Amino acid sequence: MTAAIDTHRDFALSLDRADELGPFRNRFNFPQSRHGLSPVYLCGHSLGLQPKEAVRYVQEELDDWARLGVEGHFHARRPWLPYHRFATAGLCELTGAATDEVVAMNTLTVNLHLLMTSFYRPVASRYKILIESTAFPSDRFAAESQIRLRGFDPAEALLEWGPRAADQTLHVDDLQRILDDSGEQIALVLLPGVQYYNGQLLDMDDLCARSRAKGCRVGLDLAHAVGNVPLALHEWAPDFAAWCSYKYLNGGPGAVAGAFVHARHLDGNASTQLLGWWGHAEETRFRMAATFDPARGAELWQLSNPPILSLAPVLASLDVFHEAGIDRLRQKSLRLTAYLAQLLEQRLQDRVTTITPLDARGSQLSLCVTDPGLAPRDVFRRLEQQDVFADWREPNVIRVATAPLYNSFADVFDFVERLAAAVEKRRPAGRRSTI
Ligand SMILES: *Cc1c(COP(=O)(O)O)cnc(C)c1O
Repeated sequence: MTAAIDTHRDFALSLDRADELGPFRNRFNFPQSRHGLSPVYLCGHSLGLQPKEAVRYVQEELDDWARLGVEGHFHARRPWLPYHRFATAGLCELTGAATDEVVAMNTLTVNLHLLMTSFYRPVASRYKILIESTAFPSDRFAAESQIRLRGFDPAEALLEWGPRAADQTLHVDDLQRILDDSGEQIALVLLPGVQYYNGQLLDMDDLCARSRAKGCRVGLDLAHAVGNVPLALHEWAPDFAAWCSYKYLNGGPGAVAGAFVHARHLDGNASTQLLGWWGHAEETRFRMAATFDPARGAELWQLSNPPILSLAPVLASLDVFHEAGIDRLRQKSLRLTAYLAQLLEQRLQDRVTTITPLDARGSQLSLCVTDPGLAPRDVFRRLEQQDVFADWREPNVIRVATAPLYNSFADVFDFVERLAAAVEKRRPAGRRSTI
């Protein structure tokens, strides 16, 4: 990462011209400028941009509802009764799941609860949940409340794997130590694929294997991993996984999320799920019988008929992912973040550092303003005033993601220019056009 690189904007433009995924940028709507500069959108880890096709997909459902009323369940262009299945192939591509193992449903935290209900089965000798100490609050609250509801005390039953202070990074040796000490008491290991705060990509295959070796169930939270890095869930074989669809998946605010249950749990046994009519086999659902006939596969975990209007944009987005291909996207993502890291090092060395481990990264770099003469929050504000969309996390972290579907090398260049201006308290550079 130390070789000098060309620090002219023309170089970024030449990388964009040579980028075979470059044209995908035009398939997205970009937010408006707030302060007179062209926006640099680096918030795909928080809310992905709108695929232009999402408008058509939603409009078609509204039209079919207007045109067909209740008949839309069967006769809409994409019938609503099996609507969630239109997402299945795309989700399998992104997650490496088998068809039966995934289902688009609910939202992330809801799915975590539904899956923990099935796969956190504490007994007196094995009742603990292991999470990371910097877990997203919703995951922590979900785990704590599950522990409490089963009659245990989170103060004692919730174990935490924390990053080392020296580098703010999670080290698998530390996880192994916890597993060696307490593995026999751990009922569930619940870990992320990509850590939301420091952007660290974890070796999910390895985490699953280590946990399984101690007899623990494993769940993965893939909120920051799906659509960001290639996944092989069937092969890695966690017991379950869940994700939201509005970050890298570009499914829109509150979009319908996804869940994975490994094939070894899909034996049609419906005794450990919370049940609703959408988990009932579709063929016989409308007989409205009093006995439950379980759907095959992960669909058994569905409760309600899905919100079609919040699932339509997910389908539009999955089409774009299918065309671009997650492996090509990953290659571009690695190049974008490498370019970003190099420019930062050359332009802002010692003033802004990256806490994301570069050898284990997705599309997000988490930046720390380390120059003691600078107030980090002010630097972030000056970035916002230059039409940079990034986000702020207490106490001093600016998270930026270069989403390979719609971010360009010129975005990376412009971001670093604006960050340098923010750090130097210069006035923003003049209006620039982006490609
Ligand atoms: C974004 C995110 C959430 C958000 O949960 P919702 O239920 O979608 O509101 C939860 N956990 C993690 C790790 C996240 O990154």
